[in-house]
Amino acid sequence: MLSAKFRPWDLLPFSVKYARLRLRRRPVLVHFEVTMRCNARCPFCDYWKTDPAMKAQELASFADAARAFDPMMIAFTGGEPLLRGDLEAIVAAVDGAIRHKWMTLLTHGAMLSVERARALWAAGIGQFGISLDYLDARHDRARGIPGLAGKILANAERIRSEGMTVRFNTVIKDDNLDDILPLVERAAAMRVGVNFSVYTDFKNGNGAHRIRPEQQAQLREVIAALLAFKRRRRGIISNSDHYLAEIPRWIAGEMTEPCRSGQDTVHIDPYGGIRRCPDFPVDGHWREYDGYAPIACDKCFYACRGEAQAPLRLNRFQDLIASP
Ligand code: SF4
Ligand code: SF4
Repeated sequence: MLSAKFRPWDLLPFSVKYARLRLRRRPVLVHFEVTMRCNARCPFCDYWKTDPAMKAQELASFADAARAFDPMMIAFTGGEPLLRGDLEAIVAAVDGAIRHKWMTLLTHGAMLSVERARALWAAGIGQFGISLDYLDARHDRARGIPGLAGKILANAERIRSEGMTVRFNTVIKDDNLDDILPLVERAAAMRVGVNFSVYTDFKNGNGAHRIRPEQQAQLREVIAALLAFKRRRRGIISNSDHYLAEIPRWIAGEMTEPCRSGQDTVHIDPYGGIRRCPDFPVDGHWREYDGYAPIACDKCFYACRGEAQAPLRLNRFQDLIASP
C-alpha cells in the first residue's frame, strides 16, 4: 500500500490526475533532492563528499516547483534529507501548494526518530522509505554508521505501530542474496513494505557489489521466491511482478529498451537544477524543463526505470491497494 493516508475514495481524483499528466507528457513522480550533504559513508556513492559550505546555496522552498509540475507523487530525498532542520517546513509548504499527491521521504534512517517522524507525518509525508540492505551489522559497515540496522528496525517498528507507513528500500547486491527473503519476512512481520532496486556501479564506478554472472542461478531462485511471496501476500513487496521478473535480464545485459527516465520521473537538485535521473548531470534550471526523450542508456535498473517499463496490469492495482 502506498500510504495509510491513502483512502479508497482518493482513487478517482488520483486516476484523473494520472491521465492528465500522461496526456500532457509530464512526470508523474518528482524527486526533490533537498540536500546533497550526507553523514553516511557509503563506498558506492559520493554524495557524502559534498562540501558542507554548499548548505548556503540550498533552496529554502520547493513549493514553486511543486506547483509547476503538479505531480502525483513527490519524493523528498538527498543526500540525507533529515540533515535539513527545516525539512518539516519544506514538506508543509509543498503539501499546501498542490492537491492529490502522495509524498514520501527517502532516508538512511539514522536520524529518523519517532518524534521527527510524527512531525514530518503531520507536515504531509505519507510514507517513510528507509534504506536497508542487510538485517545485521553488514548494513552498519556498508553505510559507515555503527548500530544502524538495529536502530532502523527498532524505530520502524515504533513508527509503524503509531499508524504511519514505512517501507524499506533494499538494493539487491552480490552479497545480500541470502538476506532478501528473510528481509521481506521480517518486514511482513512488522507490517512494513519493501521496495527493491538492483545495484549499479554507475554512481561512482564502484563495481564491488555488482551481481556476478555466476550468481544468476541464485538470483533467479531469489526472484522466484519473491514472486511466490507476492502471490501469497500482496501489500509487502511494492515492486511490480514485471520489474522483479526483469532483473535477471538486466544483469545478463539483455535489456535493449530505451530508458524513459525524465519522462515519468525527474530529479530537482538542492540548487534548482533538473536532471533525468539521479546519476545524470544537470540539464538546466527546473523552470527550463521541456520534457525528456527516451535515451539509449542501460547503466542501471533502478525501480524508477524498471517500473516505467512495466505494463499496466491488474496486479499493479492489487499491489497499490493491498494493506501490509
Ligand atoms: S547512498 Fe544515500 S546514505 Fe549513502 S552516502 Fe549516498 S546519499 Fe548518503
Ligand atoms: S538507465 Fe536511465 S535511470 Fe539508469 S542511469 Fe541510465 S538514464 Fe539514468
